[in-house]
Amino acid sequence: MDKRMRMNRIKNVKELQALQREIELMRQTNGELEEELIKIMQEMDEIKTQIETKESEMASMQQEWQAKQNELQSEITGIDAAVSEAATRRQSIAAQVTGDLISRYELIFSRRGGTAVVEVAGGICQGCYMNLPPQLWNEIIRNEKLHLCPSCQRILYVKPRAE
Ligand SMILES: [Zn+2]
Repeated sequence: MDKRMRMNRIKNVKELQALQREIELMRQTNGELEEELIKIMQEMDEIKTQIETKESEMASMQQEWQAKQNELQSEITGIDAAVSEAATRRQSIAAQVTGDLISRYELIFSRRGGTAVVEVAGGICQGCYMNLPPQLWNEIIRNEKLHLCPSCQRILYVKPRAE
């Protein structure tokens, strides 16, 4: 072998060794990068799990809230219905009572010469001077509802006793 060829071979061996070191280094670096990547992916998985947990918590809270809302709404609807039913009943009773009272008053007024409401004094109707049955007299004194004289049909009232 001549000297130049030997020199060339040595140079090639050295280059080869340098290349092998470089490859080894790259492999190490690559391994580290892979490890880091795996760690990041694991962290991402954890974060994803946390997000999912929070989301399901939120969903159940929303469901609860919706249920409460529905409950309140149905309570309100019930109360509304009760109120409007009571209002309707009040109106129909008022119409009945008032209408009845007015027509009764007008009828008596026209039949009895302009006096529809008379006092009862000592159990006697001051319209027709008839003695009222004691039971009726007691009821009139109790003043719980409207009473008519059984004889002249006038509306009866008692003067409140002066005290
Ligand atoms: Zn009478």
